This record gives sequence, C-alpha cells and structure tokens, in this order.
Amino acid sequence: NYILAIESSCDDTSAAVLCNTKVLSNVVATQEIHKQYGGVVPELASRAHQQNIVPVVHQALAKANIDKKQLSAIAFTRGPGLMGSLLVGTSFAKSLALGLNIPLIEVNHMEAHILAHFIEEEDMGTPEFPFLAMTISGGHTQIVRVNDYFNMEVLGETLDDAVGEAFDKSAKLMGLPYPGGPLVDKYAQEGNPKAFPFPKPKVDGLNFSFSGLKTSILYFVQRETRKNPDFVSENIKDICASVQHTILEILMDKLKLAINQTGIKQIAIGGGVAANSGIRSRLKEAEQTMGWTTYIPKFSYCTDNAGMIGIVGYLKFLEGKFADQKVAAKARYTIGS
Ligand code: ATP
Ligand code: FE
Repeated sequence: NYILAIESSCDDTSAAVLCNTKVLSNVVATQEIHKQYGGVVPELASRAHQQNIVPVVHQALAKANIDKKQLSAIAFTRGPGLMGSLLVGTSFAKSLALGLNIPLIEVNHMEAHILAHFIEEEDMGTPEFPFLAMTISGGHTQIVRVNDYFNMEVLGETLDDAVGEAFDKSAKLMGLPYPGGPLVDKYAQEGNPKAFPFPKPKVDGLNFSFSGLKTSILYFVQRETRKNPDFVSENIKDICASVQHTILEILMDKLKLAINQTGIKQIAIGGGVAANSGIRSRLKEAEQTMGWTTYIPKFSYCTDNAGMIGIVGYLKFLEGKFADQKVAAKARYTIGS
C-alpha cells in the first residue's frame, strides 16, 4: 500500500510517500521567513504553507516515483498546532482524497512524534509494548506510557514552557537566531557543562517546568553583562553547555522517576529536541549504566516531517480507522483523545 502523508502543523510544510512501513520520500520545506522575527508568525506560516504545499507534494511523489493514482490513502496532521497552518494541510488532504476517491486518515501530531519509531529503517529498532515515550518538542514535553499504537496515557507534562522553547528562549537571551536549539547544542559540545550552575525546578511527580530556568538565565546574563559587556560572546560555549546540562538533568531525573514508578525500562524519545546530541549520548550511557533499552529516531524523523504522519496513517489504514469529509482541524488535540 502507498500512503501520501501531509504535515503542516507549524512552520514546516512536509509531504511523504510510504510503502507500508517504509518511507520512500520525505520532503520538508522549512519556512525561512520567521527567522527575522525571532519566532513563528502564524499568519505568515499559513501563507507559506499555501505556497509550498503543491510543490512539496509533487516532489514527494516524484522522489518516490509514484503516481497519485497508485495511492491507497491520504494521511494528514489534524492537530495540535497553529489553526491557520493546520487548515492548509487539512483542506488539501480532504480535497485530494475526495478527488482520488480514496480514504482520508487524520493523525495526531504528538502521537506521530512517538509512532515515528515504527518506521522501518536500518539502524532504528522498534520498541515493544508497553514502553515509555518522552516527547520533547517545540510545543510539548510529555512522558507517555504507550500500551499499544492507539492506547497511550500521558503520565506527566510541562506546566509552563516546552523544553524546545526553553532551548530557543535561552538562545534568544544569548543573542542567537531562531530556532536556537540546534545552536545551543553545537556550542555546548565545546563548552564546560559545569561552568555556570543553574537551579533545577522543584516539581512533584512526572510534570516539568522550564520557565524558572529561563528567568534565572535572564538574570544571570543581565548581571554578568553589567560587569562585562562582552560576557556572553566570550563565554558562549560554556553558557550553552551549562544551560543544556541543566535541561538534560531535568529530563533524565524525570525519566528515572517514570521508570521507578512504572517498572518499564524501554524508553523512546521523539520530537525536535530528540535531535539534541546531549540527550542522545545521555540515553546511550543509561543503556550501559542503568540497563535501559533506548530508542532514538533518525534525525530526519525528530523535527517535524510527514514521514511520521505517514507511519501513523499506515497503522490506521490497517485498522480501517478512516476520517470522513466533515473532519476539521483541531488546534488543541491531546494524545489518546
Ligand atoms: P510540537 O511538536 O510540540 O507541536 P514543533 O512541531 O514546533 O512542536 P518540533 O519541530 O518537533 O516542534 O521541534 C522543534 C524544536 O526542537 C525547536 O524548539 C528546536 O529548537 C528544537 N531542536 C531541534 N534540534 C535541536 C537540538 N539539536 N538541540 C536542542 N533543541 C533542538
Ligand atoms: Fe512537532
């Protein structure tokens, strides 16, 4: 079966073609327009999706060497995300499915970040149920107990900022361009993670909080810059390493707690921050020291991409879980609802 998948929840327009569990093509058009504003501007994102969607879908089909008449179903991101962005992908998917007279499949973007692990790829193992998923992205930070493909339970989540936001906002305070996460990662690799200690938040249970860290970085940068105007540029590597270290400690502490509480030692991560080299090596380390089994997606399946939407589309296709033409985009769409 060939599935065409479309993702347009935020600022990446993406289309993928899957043959069963294999990704044949996964085209992503990243919108550069938002850089100059230091964050995603919803109205501009929606307009850029409108411009990108037809060429991106064409490219995905061409790369896969598939004609649209060969498609078995169309999968699309229904939510969560920016309403104006979601509307573009949703309307496009609905009309194409109608025109081709094939099933339409709606996909929850956060479930897709988790189920991306079921894409068939060399060097990527597939977790067995039940496992714990930690979704770490630009809009979410959750620990999820995954009992089955479509039976998931959120055990904890952030009470304020998402971890990706914590990376991006800290980067902004250091004068780095948006999105700062990958740059913090890059500088951190050459810095001393113990150079500047930042406090960890005290949050009970499996919930997270990142807004306090952002504030302490702000005060730290202001205080040091008053003493030395070039403090940030002179110490960028050490600051990035210290910020990243604090974030990773917060994530690892909660994972340990989740494992203690559930007895499940299989961990899968997903979402844009799963691309972070620090979290990847911390998890590999935990395999050795703690006996965990960890699953880390290929880089291209971490940040937003239609490949992950396609695998969920395929899994739903097998179960006959189709959407009808009345289906509407859903800006707030919780896992398992
Ligand atoms: P959501 O999935 O919650 O709707 P989103 O789709 O906007 O949010 P993703 O595309 O999954 O988010 O992830 C983007 C985030 O990942 C950004 O905050 C970005 O800075 C962060 N990110 C990407 N690469 C890295 C990295 N190497 N280190 C740290 N953060 C990173
Ligand atoms: Fe995402």
